[in-house]
Amino acid sequence: MIELRTPAEIDRMHDAGRFVASVLEATAAASVVGANLLDIDKLAHDMIRKAGAESCYIDYHPSFGGSKFGKVICTSVNDAALHGLPFDYRLRDGDVLSLDFAASLGGWVTDSAITITVGTPREEDLRLIDVTSRALDAGIAAATVGNRIGDISAAIGEVAHAAGFSVNTDFGGHGVGRTMHGDPHIPNDGRPGRGLPLRAGLVFAIEPWFMLGTDRIYTDPDGWTLRSADGSRAAHFEHTVAVTENGPLVLTARK
Ligand code: MG
Repeated sequence: MIELRTPAEIDRMHDAGRFVASVLEATAAASVVGANLLDIDKLAHDMIRKAGAESCYIDYHPSFGGSKFGKVICTSVNDAALHGLPFDYRLRDGDVLSLDFAASLGGWVTDSAITITVGTPREEDLRLIDVTSRALDAGIAAATVGNRIGDISAAIGEVAHAAGFSVNTDFGGHGVGRTMHGDPHIPNDGRPGRGLPLRAGLVFAIEPWFMLGTDRIYTDPDGWTLRSADGSRAAHFEHTVAVTENGPLVLTARK
């Protein structure tokens, strides 16, 4: 079901989005060489408690998950592309880390992700991160009244293809509101002019994720973490965006 939000509701979601952005800022800053993924999760959990927010992940148990997630943030390192389950791992020099965080504040969910390098970055990783980030920007720019979902998908896919990356469309953007996942689904590739027409009040997460080599993934034995089939590294960027009469409004923008 497609739900439209009033301007007042989008204001509330913006408050929730600022909180999610602050958690990503803090956890990204803490993600230095030697930092343990479990401590990064604990930092996010402490911020949730302090803000009176609720985790969208800790009790999450969808059909594709092995069990309840049990943590509050996804930490995907190197060949992990999505849904990285935090474990007892200390970040190493040259790692690529994606942080994906969703929480509910005041009853409204927002969802956002960022990819960073730890310590001394590799050139190819910086390029992957740049391309994925630019794909998110292109997708957001296409989230305007009068466009269609396919225009967002096409804008994302175009950036990937221009950079020589293939796109896995198994996981993509999604509606957000009272819950983390709703309609519409927004694939990271597609044809322009197709799909749902965008109207003011639509709120969704746009989330390109690309891998340096393959477009195929497999599930880690932990039951959650999705890794590239060839071990190549991955990047993932996500924002929750409201379609408004004045253009796209990024609810999870970081300072
Ligand atoms: Mg997310």
